[in-house]
Amino acid sequence: MVFRLSSLKPLHTFGLNHTAESISYLATPSDFQELVGLALNTDFILLGSGSNVVFLEDISIPVFINRFYGKTLEETNDAYIVKVNSGENWHEFVVWCLDHNINGFENLGLIPGTVGASPVQNIGAYGVEVERFIKEVEYLNLKTGNFETLLKNKCNFGYRDSIFKMSCLKVA
Ligand SMILES: Cc1cc2nc3c(=O)[nH]c(=O)nc-3n(C[C@H](O)[C@H](O)[C@H](O)COP(=O)(O)OP(=O)(O)OC[C@H]3O[C@@H](n4cnc5c(N)ncnc54)[C@H](O)[C@@H]3O)c2cc1C
Repeated sequence: MVFRLSSLKPLHTFGLNHTAESISYLATPSDFQELVGLALNTDFILLGSGSNVVFLEDISIPVFINRFYGKTLEETNDAYIVKVNSGENWHEFVVWCLDHNINGFENLGLIPGTVGASPVQNIGAYGVEVERFIKEVEYLNLKTGNFETLLKNKCNFGYRDSIFKMSCLKVA
């Protein structure tokens, strides 16, 4: 589903009142495919909650807002396997895990942002980083248009860093 708006004010933490050429909301995997064709010809910005960006001027390229919600839980003999879509709010996800007796994320509670942004900079707090809990990350390869999966050991996680800071990968 795609809506068109123009003010960036409610879409980033600093709330500066600038505009974008277009603002579209991405809610399904097929919405994300719009980025593939676009990436061939122009730059664009993909935002989660806008808590790690500041817009200091009007933006002349398209802005996309990630609202791809959903999560599933599978319990095995020795682990919980949670698949969570990238538009989910990070803190609400931590609380949801605790509600399901899934422990470990506590130190990362209250970090603002989306689940999809969490592996991008490998969010961390109080000595814990999200990479500790990640098994694999599904992403949209903007060069091929395919959704692909990277195992954790291929994500190049480092201090506030990962392979997803490369421009051709977007976390789904
Ligand atoms: C008050 C405050 C406290 C914070 N505390 C911490 C902390 O303790 N630890 C910590 O690690 N961080 C912290 N941060 C930083 C912030 O919470 C993280 O960077 C968070 O992951 C940003 O999520 P977001 O959805 O708001 O990303 P946005 O601000 O929307 O985007 C940030 C960057 O990630 C990219 N991006 C977003 N989603 C995707 C995606 N799905 N795929 C690919 N690229 C994407 C954007 O293009 C942009 O370049 C804090 C920020 C604030 C404002």
